[in-house]
Amino acid sequence: MAVLVTGGAGYIGTHTVVQLIEQGEKVIVLDNLCNSSRDVFSRIEKICGVLPTFIEGDIRNRECLDKIFSASSIDSVIHFAGLKAVGESSQIPLDYYQNNVCGTLILCEAMAAAGVKKLIFSSSATVYGEDAPVPYEENMPRGKTSNPYGASKAMVEQVLTDLCASDPEWSVALLRYFNPIGAHPTGLIGEDPKGIPNNLMPFISQVAVGKRKELSIFGDDYPTEDGTCERDYLHVMDLADGHVSALSSLDENGVHIYNLGTGNGLSVLEMVKTFMRITGVDVPYTFADRREGDLPAFWADASKAEKELGWRATRTLDDMMEDTWRWQSNNPNGYEG
Ligand code: NAD
Ligand code: UDP
Repeated sequence: MAVLVTGGAGYIGTHTVVQLIEQGEKVIVLDNLCNSSRDVFSRIEKICGVLPTFIEGDIRNRECLDKIFSASSIDSVIHFAGLKAVGESSQIPLDYYQNNVCGTLILCEAMAAAGVKKLIFSSSATVYGEDAPVPYEENMPRGKTSNPYGASKAMVEQVLTDLCASDPEWSVALLRYFNPIGAHPTGLIGEDPKGIPNNLMPFISQVAVGKRKELSIFGDDYPTEDGTCERDYLHVMDLADGHVSALSSLDENGVHIYNLGTGNGLSVLEMVKTFMRITGVDVPYTFADRREGDLPAFWADASKAEKELGWRATRTLDDMMEDTWRWQSNNPNGYEG
């Protein structure tokens, strides 16, 4: 039996594919490469000695999905495919709803038709909304999201919850990621954003490698210890392991919701300073205005995943910084060399 990984050529997908293969799972990747490169597969083969099956295609192409399900014996699906840039989602909301919401509906229809009813979905801490108290706990209601990206994640959570209520054969894990950073310790795979990075960690590492002049820290007047925003950063390898652990939760039907985070909030300034200490490379920064939509501080209550899945984030902040830097300095232009 194989695991179908949609979006498996992307940042979190590649690391998860590696960990699945290391656990002896047979993996089939479906990706349209709209935000990734086919070069990841030779890198994955270098790391684990196995080349996963890759199908270039779109989750919205029902015919393509039907072919995959009929040609292979698939047990479960890990669904990463989607668009993820928060700012862009306000400019092209229809693309976000089309990809993230319609894409998931079509995927689920194809799964139902094939009798494959185990799904892990990439959700996000953003579904807790703007007013939730920290730390976020899974039993809190979903809140008001401030952009189409966040809304698309909340909508899909609702769709999958309704689906499980309608048919007890389904089992779905909604994994709410906090802030994944870092890279595989070999430095062979990592985060390779196209254009100017939106996220903090790739921006820091691109400044360090000389691709960008300086980091702008968005806001220094938040009600936090040093005035900069706090987030729960976790190593992408821990996040990948979380998916392997969550596969086991799918033996029980229904919806299973898990926060995947460390349980600790760290400020932007702490992140920049730790990166400089660990790598010995200077990262010039200035303070800029707050970025619209940013919340001051949030982190996970990660105890449910530990209790029920036996999963917890084990890599340290130093590991995250070392691994980010190994990837960035070995691959200054990402997969393009
Ligand atoms: P990514 O962009 O690196 O990976 C997504 C992959 O999906 C890409 O390879 C892209 O080519 C593919 N894709 C997009 N639309 C597709 C479609 N219609 N059909 C087939 N393939 C398609 O992003 P990532 O950081 O690896 O994130 C993976 C998932 O996790 C996304 O759903 C994202 O919203 C979610 N998530 C990410 C973060 C984060 O901070 N990176 C946080 C919370 C949730
Ligand atoms: N951030 C920053 N400069 C950047 C990118 C991000 O100061 O160039 C800050 C941002 O305001 C937020 C934190 O870093 O407080 C994490 O941002 P990211 O976009 O990585 O994650 P998210 O907003 O999804 O939590």
